[in-house]
Amino acid sequence: MEVWYCRVCGLDYDESPWGPDGHTPDFSTCACCGVEFGYQDYTPDSARAYRAQWLAAGAAWFYPNMKPHNWQPGAQLPQVPAGYH
Ligand SMILES: [Zn+2]
Repeated sequence: MEVWYCRVCGLDYDESPWGPDGHTPDFSTCACCGVEFGYQDYTPDSARAYRAQWLAAGAAWFYPNMKPHNWQPGAQLPQVPAGYH
């Protein structure tokens, strides 16, 4: 199983919310940036726009109770897949 990284914030997932074929999003929500997979991350431009908005708002976790204790946005953001930076 390959690790999948959020196209907006770079959070790692055990399974792709875009489905095994990469084209079937489940419209779940990223615990970190709150993007709805299949919606705001549909294109590199929309992912960038959502990321800019999220960062400008303070990069808060959508589900704060899932935020790792020593979380650093600067360490996670470089995990955003190539093409979505
Ligand atoms: Zn995310």
